[in-house]
Amino acid sequence: MLHRVHVGSTSGGDSCAGHSRARSRAATSPIGGATIPGVRYGSSQRAPAKIVTSIAAAAIMARPASPSRAAPRPATIGAMSGPHLRDFNRIVFFTGAGMSAESGVPTYRGAGGIWKEYDYRRYACQDAFNRDPAAVWEFHNYRRRLVAACAPNLGHRIIARAGQREARVTVVTQNIDGLHALSGSRDILELHGNLWRVRCDTCGVKQQDSHEPREQLRCDGCGGWWRPDIVWFGDFLDDATLHSAKQLISSCDLFVSVGTSAVVYPAAQLPEYARAGKALRVEINPDETPASDLYDVHLRGPATEMLTRLADGDPHLLDPA
Ligand SMILES: [Zn+2]
Repeated sequence: MLHRVHVGSTSGGDSCAGHSRARSRAATSPIGGATIPGVRYGSSQRAPAKIVTSIAAAAIMARPASPSRAAPRPATIGAMSGPHLRDFNRIVFFTGAGMSAESGVPTYRGAGGIWKEYDYRRYACQDAFNRDPAAVWEFHNYRRRLVAACAPNLGHRIIARAGQREARVTVVTQNIDGLHALSGSRDILELHGNLWRVRCDTCGVKQQDSHEPREQLRCDGCGGWWRPDIVWFGDFLDDATLHSAKQLISSCDLFVSVGTSAVVYPAAQLPEYARAGKALRVEINPDETPASDLYDVHLRGPATEMLTRLADGDPHLLDPA
């Protein structure tokens, strides 16, 4: 089954257009009426005791089924303390534009968003490429130049470090900037492709390429046009990549979304798999998102700060102010 990216009026990335989940959501209830900066809970969880129970239960359920795996640390989540990365063995980080924003990678939506300035219908869809591949390449070389000036941030490095211990850590990203790989993450599923890879539009062969600008625009083998191997508006996601992401998310014990509002299908459905698989679900985002109801814990703040606290096992992560 192929999964086509829907095209609409609100864009969040090359493939981040429209088809937002229409999700009615009750207003988030402050815990005990207290204001808790940086932390919000799902609307289904209104009392701190219930939340802690939920987190602890999820952590306990997260113990590996196979005795051959390293035994997890006991769930040490106490009253009003937060989850700790090291308490989990199969972790999926699901990242979006907010992950790279602190590296300076231009975001897509909002003021200064790239699609405010550039019409994707002229620069980021197959029709545009068919009409004028040189113009589309000019735009993508501009994007390469912007991204090449950016370096992985602390959040990228924390995720990479998490993958260097015994836990299985997978990054499922909507970003095309390649910063997860640059920071040392090894197990990465790029749902929307990679700006630093090209694909022959005629014969389909792929090639890694870090030139900025990319000047060779014709395939050596067949003479067809190279195009960026990214998912443009109206393109299909790679079915095998999406399938792998769903499998890993269904079987993880901790699912952390970072900087994505996940409003675009099919990426928007991925948190549902984590919920079905009983993973503890943590949303890191400065703002509430249409998917917030799908998460157990909401960490409201910049990605680097919240990932740092999650990695450090900050005992005050969920403290009331
Ligand atoms: Zn070719």
